[in-house]
Amino acid sequence: MTSGAYDPSNIFAKILRGEIPSHRVYEDENTVAFMDVMPQAPGHVLVVPKAPSRNLLDSDPAVLALTISVVQKIACAVKDAFDADGVFVCQFNEPAAGQTVFHLHFHVIPRHEGVALKPHSGKLEDNAVLAANAEKIKAEL
Ligand code: 5GP
Repeated sequence: MTSGAYDPSNIFAKILRGEIPSHRVYEDENTVAFMDVMPQAPGHVLVVPKAPSRNLLDSDPAVLALTISVVQKIACAVKDAFDADGVFVCQFNEPAAGQTVFHLHFHVIPRHEGVALKPHSGKLEDNAVLAANAEKIKAEL
């Protein structure tokens, strides 16, 4: 069972349509990846399929297959770009699970031993920092 309908006025749909700026690190025919504006660690990227779905629950498995291969590509790039010890990949479905933006996306977050994650949807990062971190990731792709 899914919950609710897809709303094309969600913030990621606006980013995909180019109505709102983002720090893109990757784009192909099916998928876009850009910096999270409230990163839980430096290098926090969101991988977003262009096809509309609210989350994993109502998404097309063919789209999921394409998206997860980009998640892998981005995970490798952020690990190298930030010399990380590991990479956290997560994805929330519906408000009860922590979802706040209702267009399917995967979080890809570099992790370092002993360094705690900042809160989810916490503090807005400076644009200059996001831009510099996006460049580091692009250099690895
Ligand atoms: P969710 O809770 O839906 O999995 O996460 C949504 C994510 O989107 C959060 O990590 C939040 O920081 C991020 N976010 C919210 N608004 C924007 C925005 O306008 N631009 C970007 N790039 N990220 C956003």
